[in-house]
Amino acid sequence: MPEYLISACLCGICCRYDSGCFDYPVLAKLVAEGRALPFCPEQAGGLPTPRVPCEICDGKVIRRDGIDCTAEYTRGAYAALKACRHYGITAAILKESSPSCGVNSIYDGTHTGRKIPGEGLTAALLRQNGVSLYTEKDLPPL
Ligand code: SF4
Repeated sequence: MPEYLISACLCGICCRYDSGCFDYPVLAKLVAEGRALPFCPEQAGGLPTPRVPCEICDGKVIRRDGIDCTAEYTRGAYAALKACRHYGITAAILKESSPSCGVNSIYDGTHTGRKIPGEGLTAALLRQNGVSLYTEKDLPPL
């Protein structure tokens, strides 16, 4: 059974808004060993890849073109929580600064590349439900 839920884009799955991903061999190894479940809340919430980027603004998740995507982001967050509960997962390794996965920082809602302290919707929901959160910059002892 997996011990960690992990942002899918951190282990080579190209699910980012721009169809990109990151390559952290240590995290891909966790997945290959069955110790981590790769999960993309935005895809799970029904959003396509590629997709128009969103940022959190006044508690809502707003696309760069002004469309409110809070419902999709919320759906993805609850899907992540459901996956954690299904597998008994109590820790997650999440991509910093994402409007879903950001643990310590998010973009400021102006789509100008500025970051502020804050957390994404999935990170917030998992934390509120007792899941320990780590990031690609702050890995747990593996
Ligand atoms: Fe990666 Fe999370 Fe964004 Fe999906 S929602 S692309 S897992 S940071």
